[in-house]
Amino acid sequence: MGSRRQFLVILASAFGMVPVVAWLTGPSTVRTAGGSFPVHKSDEEWRRVLTPAQYRVLRGHATERPFTSPLNREHREGTFSCAGCARGLFASATKFDSGTGWPSFWRPLENAVGTSVDQRLLMVRTEVHCAGCGGHLGHVFGDGPQPTGLRYCMNGIALNFEATL
Ligand SMILES: [Zn+2]
Repeated sequence: MGSRRQFLVILASAFGMVPVVAWLTGPSTVRTAGGSFPVHKSDEEWRRVLTPAQYRVLRGHATERPFTSPLNREHREGTFSCAGCARGLFASATKFDSGTGWPSFWRPLENAVGTSVDQRLLMVRTEVHCAGCGGHLGHVFGDGPQPTGLRYCMNGIALNFEATL
């Protein structure tokens, strides 16, 4: 009985997760963080152009402490771009308050980000990186609001915001 229940839980979570992961890693987002990107810099160059905190997140896959980014409270109209290469990533219209303490969006701009499977911390998560420079931005989860049902949970320090004039 116990193992059957366990099997059903695994089955249910597999059915719950696979479509999202398959869709996210579909042909439109084939680039992975290990691939090649339009913007390429050596590790030394990244250390020079990024602040130590930006470097830890964008190049080192660290996660900023929640509720620390001023972008959590950014509600103006505009575009959120990559702090590493300035590629536009998210429109303010897709930002929502997830209550997590990290800037959250339900959809990136077209061709702005790529995804890869992240198995760090004994969890399987979908990592989101910038399609311009491969910099780590955060993760995407399947518990976001409509119309996509996705929650792009971003490190604010990996983003810059430019308000629409
Ligand atoms: Zn970038």
